[in-house]
Amino acid sequence: MTNLRKAYDAEQFRASGHQLIDQLADYLAKATAGAAMPVLPWQETESAHKNWEAHLEASAPEDLFTKTLRESIHIHHPNYMGHQISPAAPMAALAGLVSDFMNNGMGVYEMGIVGSTLDRLVIRAVTEKMSLPDTADGVMTSGGTMANLTALLTARSLKAQDEVWKLGTHQQYALMVSEQAHYCVDRAARIMGWGSAGIIKIPTNADYSMRTDLLDEYLTKAKNENIQVLAVVGSACSTSTGAFDDLEAIADFCAKQNLWFHVDGAHGAALVYSNRYKNLVKGIERADSIIMDFHKMLLTPSITTALIFKDGTLNFRTFAQEAQYLFEEEEDLDWYNMAKRTFECTKTMMSLKVYSLMRTYGDALFDEYVTTVIDNTHLLAQLVDKDAAFELAASPQANIICFRHRPVGLEEASLNAHNALLREVIKKKGDYYIVKTNLRGKVFLRCTLTNPFTSEQHLRGLLETIKATARETRRVAR
Ligand SMILES: *Cc1c(COP(=O)(O)O)cnc(C)c1O
Repeated sequence: MTNLRKAYDAEQFRASGHQLIDQLADYLAKATAGAAMPVLPWQETESAHKNWEAHLEASAPEDLFTKTLRESIHIHHPNYMGHQISPAAPMAALAGLVSDFMNNGMGVYEMGIVGSTLDRLVIRAVTEKMSLPDTADGVMTSGGTMANLTALLTARSLKAQDEVWKLGTHQQYALMVSEQAHYCVDRAARIMGWGSAGIIKIPTNADYSMRTDLLDEYLTKAKNENIQVLAVVGSACSTSTGAFDDLEAIADFCAKQNLWFHVDGAHGAALVYSNRYKNLVKGIERADSIIMDFHKMLLTPSITTALIFKDGTLNFRTFAQEAQYLFEEEEDLDWYNMAKRTFECTKTMMSLKVYSLMRTYGDALFDEYVTTVIDNTHLLAQLVDKDAAFELAASPQANIICFRHRPVGLEEASLNAHNALLREVIKKKGDYYIVKTNLRGKVFLRCTLTNPFTSEQHLRGLLETIKATARETRRVAR
């Protein structure tokens, strides 16, 4: 057989496919049960590189997928408590395989009949959940970073004084956002050519949410400096601490000042699915645009992001400014030709992953998941709060929590180095995975409780591990 024949051999595919699914099912059972295995099988960068070079050159290499499973970070393990990403639900991962296999490009309708239609269904389901009006619509796109940029391009197209799309930028434009916002919002402003003056960072309250009481003052200051503010971005929630901005206050301000109101809900817009916690995103229904990552809080593989507009027709203005050209004919609002409204030309059938879960389990799955991981976070906050050796940065609102180890006898000046070292040692040990963040000059340990199988036992285990690690590192230091 030629290599081409071999690469596309159906029987070979059947055999390796069956074997792989068995392997993944065994892995899933083991990981979700919290079996003894490193959550992070840490390797130094250079040794990881050498190790894979050896694989590439070996005459009889180890099975590729066995090696990949063993050496990857294990999101499905309940001791995974680090960055914001869902343990992929198996059904959604299978949908991802189908999407990869069919490889429908989706740029135009005929290249993605299923994908484009499911995009529409999924977006509609989300807009209903968010209580947006019937005019709402949007697209699925490749990640929160891209979705934020796309929404802000639309804001610019609608609110800028001059015809930026045609003539380029000749005015100093800006957006206002909390100083705790994800870095991609800052990046979006700079990509649009607005430079440092284009991003006005609003200070935060003690709980790290935006000080909306300062919006008026910052807007006046911008106007005095000849800066035209086009939009305010609300974080729901911010990445480091999980703080939710007061979306209703921002909505009021934007309505009064005729500004675009964008909600970066990459992480937390998913709370609309939780009957217990949806009050945290009150006001989201008043946003002009919203983004939400399914891969962070709604169990799908990455990357799967919804970009939504309260008036869906405005999405046709993202990459064009002349409304009269676009809106002349009803058929110009061709929802089914995705590339008119997305950054991507080719994209994957990401809505298939969401739809597979929606259709199989209903919204109840999302509610159960979101509620469970937030409940867990509140439980961890209680454990931390009760223990004199720890200090919370702020009460967690969703499933992100920041705290630091503060043992008796260690002065404030040493705490940053102490907590940074703890995180580093725990990372390399690998039995728990947590991250760290810097808040107002202080280093905090940071957890996103993203695994629904994390229970009280794992949370207590984490705190014990931190304390044990602290004892070891301080013994070595002495
Ligand atoms: C994760 C995150 C992003 C970036 O989303 P990606 O899907 O990783 O590109 C943007 N904003 C917030 C608030 C986030 O938490």
